[in-house]
Amino acid sequence: MNNRLALIRQDIEKRLDAIKDPISSKGLFSSGRILGLDIREDGKVSFTVEAPAEAAERYVAARDAAEAAVRQAKGVTQVLAVLTAHEAPKAKPEGGVSRVKRIIAVASAKGGVGKSTVATNLACAYAALGLNTGLLDLDVYGPSAPTLLGVHNQKPHMRPDKLLDPLEAHGLKTMSIGYLVDPSSPMIWRGAMATSAVRQMIDEVVWGPLDVLVLDLPPGTGDVQLTLVQRVPLAGAVIVSTPQEVALADVRRGLAMFEKARAPILGIVENMAYFETPDGTRTHIFGEGGARRTAEDAGAPFLGEIAIDVALRQACDAGAPLVAAQPDHPVSRRFREIAQAALDNVARLNKPAPRISFA
Ligand code: ADP
Repeated sequence: MNNRLALIRQDIEKRLDAIKDPISSKGLFSSGRILGLDIREDGKVSFTVEAPAEAAERYVAARDAAEAAVRQAKGVTQVLAVLTAHEAPKAKPEGGVSRVKRIIAVASAKGGVGKSTVATNLACAYAALGLNTGLLDLDVYGPSAPTLLGVHNQKPHMRPDKLLDPLEAHGLKTMSIGYLVDPSSPMIWRGAMATSAVRQMIDEVVWGPLDVLVLDLPPGTGDVQLTLVQRVPLAGAVIVSTPQEVALADVRRGLAMFEKARAPILGIVENMAYFETPDGTRTHIFGEGGARRTAEDAGAPFLGEIAIDVALRQACDAGAPLVAAQPDHPVSRRFREIAQAALDNVARLNKPAPRISFA
């Protein structure tokens, strides 16, 4: 996000906070009622005001006031505020992540660094460790799970109460917008629609008891991702990067985002770290050791490197994750080591603070 947009955002958040949330009487922004705040270069702004279903009509005036207030902000040319009513989660106790022991988010600053590949293979590694594992693909604009898991022509079952059963593939429970929407239909979802799809996938999927749920976040470290990770109680985050310096500046932004969300960084994975020829010669195509250095600089753990590997690429395209299909492959072994290291860091970084007593 550039500076100008950051300043506009600050101004908008302040103006929204000057409006009272009808229920909590806190500011509308601080009360968490504003979702998906999107500010475009040309000054077009859109956001959702999320009201509890039973009090939706009390928010109509708040939405109008929010729209009017934001229109006054400098640099804003057009405002769209959508009011959505959200049923209280208690109405559907089975859905959502309440029975998931650890939620691990996999993030990257950019697309194309192999985030989904890492998320999918980590999930398979947890399943291979004997853990009950789920994979939730939260990239509503570019879902990867159908391709990476080879799930085609299967739709999740919707229960009479509208809760969704996840699909099962390669020993994982899995959900993705790609299973719900016809892949050939254009992804024209914006703002409110995407927000409600994400909410449905977080709150209305019957995961049942899980040891680990891996979230494949949309690429980037902006406000969309921040809002997302604030919706779920994360055990921690894994950040995927290539070794290039350009990617590393963004990794630092990723670290800052999870700091804001108060989620510990389980570590950084360097993907496409090198290419190894059959004689064992390694070529560091994108530079050497950058992610490890960034991790050290930021005081974050480094989880390991994944080589550029033809078998890994082929496995992705074939819809059969390498860790599940070829567990003895050296890259699969590496994924299991990384998965175990991340899990160890969950235990280490989520320890309750020591109790101080003055006995
Ligand atoms: P992202 O989720 O970051 O956008 P993907 O996981 O979809 O990226 O990966 C993009 C492409 O790169 C995929 O086609 C995948 O097969 C390939 N890929 C990812 N990591 C590797 C790797 N280490 N070696 C070879 N191919 C890889």
